[in-house]
Amino acid sequence: MTTTANSLREIHSLHQRAKAIRDRLVGVPKAVAARSGMVAKKQEAVDKAKKDLQQVKVTKASKESQRKSIHQKMDDYASKLLSVKKNDEYKAIQNEIAVLKSQVNKVDDEIIDCELEIETREAAVKAVEGELKKVQDDLAAFQKQAEDARPADEAKLAELSQAVAEAEAIIPVDLRDKYQRIIRQKGADALAIVEEGACTGCFMSVTSQMLNDLINCDTLVFCRSCGRVLYMAEEAEKLTKRSL
Ligand SMILES: [Zn+2]
Repeated sequence: MTTTANSLREIHSLHQRAKAIRDRLVGVPKAVAARSGMVAKKQEAVDKAKKDLQQVKVTKASKESQRKSIHQKMDDYASKLLSVKKNDEYKAIQNEIAVLKSQVNKVDDEIIDCELEIETREAAVKAVEGELKKVQDDLAAFQKQAEDARPADEAKLAELSQAVAEAEAIIPVDLRDKYQRIIRQKGADALAIVEEGACTGCFMSVTSQMLNDLINCDTLVFCRSCGRVLYMAEEAEKLTKRSL
């Protein structure tokens, strides 16, 4: 069995396709974690917006009870006025009522401000709740898509490792250990094309003896610098064969 550039290219491609699928499968939990982090952040933003809204509502309630107690005082003074005989006293009470009226006006303004603030903050809660829903939906859709894709990816991966095992039958028996070692080390990056007389994995030049071996295809050629399994680029291979 000869180790042709085509068969090595095929092995390289199978390893790369398997790696792409493995990377995708491995990447899912990370992507889910990142999206979950965004959901948690938005949830915090919703909680804060609701708390801010609640605070204004509490302020408004306290202003309303303030207003109520001022009105009560005003009523008390008004009924006192009915029984007052002395002019001084009458005037004093009227002054008190005038002070209370200005207090009530101020509190009324503050209550209106609270109402406007409540409207603003209610809108803010709604907006951030919308954003939360969006990231939650996004997370759910991503998880569903990843779950849906998993069986096909796993089946494809099994298919590819079967194909790799079959394609690797061409690896000469005496070089299998060395080959497997570099595959374990570099995975899909364990093979490299030779272009312009150099390994494309590490860019070291190959010797003329190695080039001969690559053309003859009767053994595996390992890069002396990075250890990758080398094979000729498609075009170079054709040209070299034609010139022989
Ligand atoms: Zn190399």
